[in-house]
Amino acid sequence: MSLPENVINGAPPSREVRLRGCGVAPGISIGPAYVYARASITVEEQSIRPEDVASELERFEGALVRSERDLKKVVAVANERLGDESVAVFEAQILMLKDEAVLDEIRTMISSRMMKSDYAVRFVLTKHRQRLEASGNEYLQERSSDIRDVEERIITHLRRNKLLSAIDPHTIVVAENLTAADVILFSRRGILGCVMDYGGSTSHVSIMARALGLPTLVGAHSATQSVRTGDTLIVDGLSGALIINPTRETTERYGRLQSRYTQILEEQKEYVPLPAETIDGRRIALRANLEFKSELELLDEYGAEGIGLFRTEMLFLTEGRLGVSEEDQYKIYSRFVEASGDHGTTIRVLDLGGDKLLPVAHREHNPFLGWRGIRVLLDKQDILRTHLRAILRASVYGKLRILLPMVTTLEEVKRFRVVYNSVCDELRAEGIAFDEAIRIGAMIEIPSAALTADQIAAEVDFLSVGTNDLTQYVLAVDRGNDLVAELYQELHPAVLRLLRMTVDAAHAHGKTVSVCGEMAADSRNVPILVGLGVDELSASPVYLPQLTRIIRSIEYTDVSDLADRALNSSDAEAVRCLLDDWLKSHPYDLLHILDS
Ligand code: PEP
Ligand code: MG
Repeated sequence: MSLPENVINGAPPSREVRLRGCGVAPGISIGPAYVYARASITVEEQSIRPEDVASELERFEGALVRSERDLKKVVAVANERLGDESVAVFEAQILMLKDEAVLDEIRTMISSRMMKSDYAVRFVLTKHRQRLEASGNEYLQERSSDIRDVEERIITHLRRNKLLSAIDPHTIVVAENLTAADVILFSRRGILGCVMDYGGSTSHVSIMARALGLPTLVGAHSATQSVRTGDTLIVDGLSGALIINPTRETTERYGRLQSRYTQILEEQKEYVPLPAETIDGRRIALRANLEFKSELELLDEYGAEGIGLFRTEMLFLTEGRLGVSEEDQYKIYSRFVEASGDHGTTIRVLDLGGDKLLPVAHREHNPFLGWRGIRVLLDKQDILRTHLRAILRASVYGKLRILLPMVTTLEEVKRFRVVYNSVCDELRAEGIAFDEAIRIGAMIEIPSAALTADQIAAEVDFLSVGTNDLTQYVLAVDRGNDLVAELYQELHPAVLRLLRMTVDAAHAHGKTVSVCGEMAADSRNVPILVGLGVDELSASPVYLPQLTRIIRSIEYTDVSDLADRALNSSDAEAVRCLLDDWLKSHPYDLLHILDS
């Protein structure tokens, strides 16, 4: 990427400031900042011109429609999940959106007093809120918070369009927090990178940023306070550095680092055609984690043996609704299956919930322990059936496996099979062709599933370990919370022991085990994962050549011994020391390869 004009030609705007975050998507970006205030509800009094009244009224009506649509979906979900007593609050909010007296007051402020709609909404609803608060009646006082919710919802809808369209394509977005959906939307506008005050490296927004190739930092704490829109930024997604208004020397140095990084990626390509096989002949399948059609070309570029994890929920997140049609799904899945050739695609059925919320989803206090993954699908069988029909129909284009997310109990696998068999019967009755021998696998990402992996392995065709979730559930550490990021330790012996249990259970039943969490992308972890007996690794394509390189430099017997010692270590730090010592003493100078 070229350096910004103002840095090459003019003096740097102001003093260089450095902050630290956690680099979650590799690469270096240099460019102007755009500070994105996601929930900024500061509303200033602003008037409009007489000729803008009609479009302003239209904007207001549009925000009302979108707010009502949100709330209706919230009501539907709350009704189904929590019972009808839970929906009263949201229904009351819908009624507020239809209160003509209040709406007319707002419209009048826009049309007669020529106020901007954000301000008109805030002004009128604040007045109503204050009246309730002053009433001395407890019930009415409580309703005032509903008015605030409605007000924020309308203003957010009024703002959202504007904010999105205001983002300059070639900027680095700085925000307190972004959702996976935000990053997808922003990336469509061609942004250069992201910086967030909060977040963890295996959160979905980080995974998304990696998939989109956007150099990204999370956990940069005060970034939104230190950066102003227009400042020049350097985002180093490799080391986690954020540099605000860099000097000319710093910018030039990072320009050189950027070129060096591109060169290393190029050099690693020599490993693309080589098999990932240890010196003593143990073959490890390396597959790709993909989320977008645009990434399919990376399969060949980085030598992936098919797709080990296709996170289908991203399609639903980009659409922003649950009702993506069978036809639309079918078209996308067919493309993936076709493009993945002989090795095939592992399609993971929808894993909504946790931090992969649809914009319309209802709020849960503890979403990672809530309505997520297979739990949602078994409850919403209409969605599951449409989803399965599309997947099954796509299976005629090549090799396809199905993966079930968030399996907690064997019972869920059995219930899934009942629905699956019934969808197969339906297609047969309609004379629609599909592959009759699709393999079905379970993700092992909840401790209960790892602990009962022997029973689950008997019911499925393969297992895939989601270390991102497994680590958070085993160690009780939120994967997206930078305050506890230090405690998020994939190499903790407790995680490794569950991995070993899973591998042993699968192998006892003649089934394979893959690791598709971010742990598999870090080549430092390879000796331990291979040593534990894992058969396949699945990671973002860009990491695969380096994984091949490491696998080709180790001996299975050697790393098995290392893994055994890791299992008996006291904590993650002890495992890291063990690994470092092992790497240092390794004849192939692995440490040097890793540090490059
Ligand atoms: C995991 O949990 O490791 C995983 C691969 O699934 P996701 O990151 O989509 O939750
Ligand atoms: Mg997971």
